[in-house]
Amino acid sequence: MTPTRKLTVLGSTGSIGVSTLDVVARHLDRYEIVALSANRRIDMLFEQCMQFRPKFAVVADVQKAEEFRNKILQSGIECSVLCGQDGLSQVASLDEIDTVMAAIVGAAGLPPTLAAARAGKKILLANKEALVMAGSIFMQTVKTHNATLLPIDSEHNAIFQALPLNYRGNLADSGIKKILLTASGGPFRTNPKEGLERVTPSEACAHPNWDMGKKISVDSATMMNKGLEVIEARWLFNMPYDRIQVVIHPQSIIHSLVEYIDGSVIAQLGNPDMRTPIAHALAFPERIESGVASLDLFKIATLNFEAPDFTRFPCLELAYQALRRDGNAPAVLNAANEIAVASFLDGKIGFVQIPKLIEYVLSHYAIGPISTLADVLKADVGSRELASEWLKINSAVIA
Ligand code: NAD
Ligand code: MG
Repeated sequence: MTPTRKLTVLGSTGSIGVSTLDVVARHLDRYEIVALSANRRIDMLFEQCMQFRPKFAVVADVQKAEEFRNKILQSGIECSVLCGQDGLSQVASLDEIDTVMAAIVGAAGLPPTLAAARAGKKILLANKEALVMAGSIFMQTVKTHNATLLPIDSEHNAIFQALPLNYRGNLADSGIKKILLTASGGPFRTNPKEGLERVTPSEACAHPNWDMGKKISVDSATMMNKGLEVIEARWLFNMPYDRIQVVIHPQSIIHSLVEYIDGSVIAQLGNPDMRTPIAHALAFPERIESGVASLDLFKIATLNFEAPDFTRFPCLELAYQALRRDGNAPAVLNAANEIAVASFLDGKIGFVQIPKLIEYVLSHYAIGPISTLADVLKADVGSRELASEWLKINSAVIA
């Protein structure tokens, strides 16, 4: 009998958080939820608390925390309510938990995910922005504190599954030639380029294959998501960027591939449903039911592949540029992208201005090495300031 795993779910009210709880609910004999967290969606967090009865619930938004605390008091259930970044880091490093699902979106997820690494936890990493911002520091922290990092991003989870079990970050030892990172191409893969100026947030969020949070949906439409994933793969698998090839695969059935020097190419396939990588990482090295339907190859019938169009998707090129420049460049890229996406979702800028804002920030911010978390956070803040300056001049054009 496997001992019960005790979990903290950071970002439990998001798309990945909800899918995680769906998998956990199928295996209550194996997993116990100790802590849940949300930013502002306290009604949903409350329902989750009623169902899973965690010992702790964190509301990141300090103003919403008091309202939530009252709801919990009235309900009579026993649950300590914490708030803000401190609360998140606290539940990510509790002695009584062994596993943390890092499913907060954006830079806000970095401090609690690092706290989990420092506490030597098993981290199921969905929050790719944390690794993009602070790759070297994050990987070093995992190593120093003997934490375990398992990828939730479907592509990285696929690569993890296609790599040798004993892979320790050395390509030559394992006979690895390159990794092939698949991308759906998002909702605008075949739209005329001219029309992209007028696309709306709801069109950008309507992904053809995946049902995801708004930020990653817009990132998929600009293909910045794939750019962030190239950077994520560089750190997770210690892979030089010229060994990571992006392949457009519109059906999202092959989640990624690893090519070996003998010509073998190993892929992981499955329906596009995040419960597969979540269940894989939760149970690793065992396998558990995830609720995902069987893959029907006869129904799919055809799988297509194309090279990415870097002129249609300048964000992908910008991400490669940040990766080549290294140091604080990926943190600068990430912060500028977060501001650009939020501004697009707020109707302040158009879709095609997203890469323009990022390019401006990347070419004006002083790129330099990072050695501490403070360096990363400085780049994050500085990039946001530059992005705001750009917005002051350029968003007026749209409004
Ligand atoms: P989402 O927007 O649906 O959910 C985000 C979660 O983070 C919510 O619980 C929200 O309350 C919380 N949150 C937001 N801002 C916060 C803040 N400032 N402080 C604390 N908590 C905050 O996002 P998602 O689609 O679930 O994505 C989560 C992460 O997983 C992202 O990094 C994304 O790139 C990654 N990811 C998602 C998918 C997917 O299918 N959704 C796939 C691969 C990777
Ligand atoms: Mg992905």
